[in-house]
Amino acid sequence: MTDFFDIHPRLLELSRQAEQLCVPAFARIAEVEEYNGQKVLAAFRSAGISEAHLKGTTGYGYDDRGREGLDAVYAAIFGAEDALVRHTFVSGTHALATALFGILRPGELMVSVTGAPYDTLEETIGIRGGGTGSLMEWGVRYRQIDLLPDGTPNHKAIAQAAREAKVIYIQRSRGYSLRPSLTVEAIGQIAQAAKAENPDVIVMVDNCYGELVEKREPTQAGADLMAGSLIKNPGGGIAPTGGYIAGRKKLVEQCAYRLTCPGMGKEVGCTLDTLRGMYQGIFLAPAVVAAAVKTAVFAAAFYHLLGFAVNPAHDAPRTDIIQSVLTGSPETLCAFCRGIQKGAPVDSFVTPMPWDMPGYDSQVIMAAGAFTMGASIELSADAPLREPYAVWLQGGLTYPTGKAGVVLSAQEMVDEGLLKLGE
Ligand SMILES: *Cc1c(COP(=O)(O)O)cnc(C)c1O
Repeated sequence: MTDFFDIHPRLLELSRQAEQLCVPAFARIAEVEEYNGQKVLAAFRSAGISEAHLKGTTGYGYDDRGREGLDAVYAAIFGAEDALVRHTFVSGTHALATALFGILRPGELMVSVTGAPYDTLEETIGIRGGGTGSLMEWGVRYRQIDLLPDGTPNHKAIAQAAREAKVIYIQRSRGYSLRPSLTVEAIGQIAQAAKAENPDVIVMVDNCYGELVEKREPTQAGADLMAGSLIKNPGGGIAPTGGYIAGRKKLVEQCAYRLTCPGMGKEVGCTLDTLRGMYQGIFLAPAVVAAAVKTAVFAAAFYHLLGFAVNPAHDAPRTDIIQSVLTGSPETLCAFCRGIQKGAPVDSFVTPMPWDMPGYDSQVIMAAGAFTMGASIELSADAPLREPYAVWLQGGLTYPTGKAGVVLSAQEMVDEGLLKLGE
């Protein structure tokens, strides 16, 4: 750490020790970064990306080369037959909802095999709220198979449900729960087991927060379709908005029919001035994701040394960019978030406060000071104010700044008398 920040000497010492603990994990992250960086470069080469691809279209966007090239780049990186990458996806939830509405028809069964889906999808599916035009209102049937008590998938129940299912739905990342995230290998095992029972079943993955953390993506391990947000991993902190869907060609086409309209699908949709950032974002994404994973691993080691329970541990394998820290009290949790905010490039002087966020049963506090509003590939922290006062940390566009934010979060606890440091 540099002396640009006023950090307690004991925290500086612990941050050095934490970095020592991280050496093996950082080496693994560097290896994945190199592999994925070159994977992305190869995808640009194979798609023949040129200066002309960076310029957008207006109006209908017929024959938009930039749009088609971007789809080809994503498809190549994800080892998928096709991809649909659009700035008109307003969020990850929108991309996931478009995919589900694209591939499911009335009477068909969707089975979520990683327990409850991410909060925002509950209304899309129809298990919360009403009168919203949810999948269930349109006659889609929904069933949920919870993870086993140890956090692993219930393969027996999944195999049984697959016989009847049209879609087997997997959420890769823990999201804002304390369950383990699913590795690409574990996703592949679910896909294999489901298809052994029903070769026609569609295995779909919510890939949010997982892109480029491993060398392979779910579509390279047996998933048929996946979707995610561009203001998380694949946008590399540059894409200003958007989402993607990737997978089997026929399925991506059905999703495109849902996004625009039947018969037109991918052939329309102008790109305006969005393409340069989209291309540059995916090009930088392997490095930015590596910085975010390093920040998460550092936070795990540092807070472990400070005596906090963390999940996952610094030496555990990673398949997403999320780190949780069990802070133990609402005061410590809020101090953590204030410190993270102080480590933001934008709005570092702002004090995050807990508030009654719609749809949550307890107050929520969020720290974020990002170039792109709501971008969680940038350093950010979120938490509901309830037992065990866990906070979820993610992002960091560069490791040195992510690390500073993490150390500042502990400094805030020290300043508030919430964390005692022995000399
Ligand atoms: C972020 C996220 C989503 C989608 O969220 P948006 O805020 O709509 O982009 C869905 N699932 C998971 C696991 C996520 O992390």
